[in-house]
Amino acid sequence: MKADVLIIGGGLMGSCTALQLAMRNIACIVIEKDSAGRHASGVNAGGLRQLNRHFSELPLTLAASRMWREIHTLVDRDCDVKISGQVRVAENAADLALLEKRVSKLQNMGYQHEELVGRKELYRLVPALAPHCVAALVSRSDGFARPFHATTAFRREAEN
Ligand SMILES: Cc1cc2nc3c(=O)[nH]c(=O)nc-3n(C[C@H](O)[C@H](O)[C@H](O)COP(=O)(O)OP(=O)(O)OC[C@H]3O[C@@H](n4cnc5c(N)ncnc54)[C@H](O)[C@@H]3O)c2cc1C
Repeated sequence: MKADVLIIGGGLMGSCTALQLAMRNIACIVIEKDSAGRHASGVNAGGLRQLNRHFSELPLTLAASRMWREIHTLVDRDCDVKISGQVRVAENAADLALLEKRVSKLQNMGYQHEELVGRKELYRLVPALAPHCVAALVSRSDGFARPFHATTAFRREAEN
């Protein structure tokens, strides 16, 4: 079989690279030593997170978040994506000061995806949380997907 590109590893990175190449009509072969999605890509927490990313990662992480929220348009499956939101909790005043500093820097950079919420909203979102927390950062458009389904969806779409 003739291919322009050889990809080693059929995890998410290999499968996603194969799909992006296929979309550009570039033939590739993926070599997988076990079975595709068998390793880290298929068995992780499944988090789709913008919250608390390093500032240098934000353009990429916001683009990735948009991609996951519309994942069916890329791989024709929903990958069991659920937009549940994610929170970073402040347990005391010192934690809260850090969150305030972060959200202020984000806003100065033009980012709105992290929102500082007080106790009432925090316990509405996470009722089972230990009772001493004072506030939180919330990223409401974060969530999770089912990792093995997602990795398989990228692989199948690349094969089509
Ligand atoms: C939906 C989703 C949500 C995620 N959420 C989280 C999260 O909440 N937290 C988190 O920490 N991470 C998360 N991740 C990331 C995940 O944990 C891994 O970091 C990521 O998927 C790694 O992808 P990979 O393709 O680089 O590696 P892998 O999945 O490990 O794939 C590498 C593949 O290469 C193969 N391989 C290795 N060497 C060779 C060789 N010499 N020849 C042939 N094949 C070889 C292996 O068998 C393996 O299948 C998520 C991933 C997905 C898909």
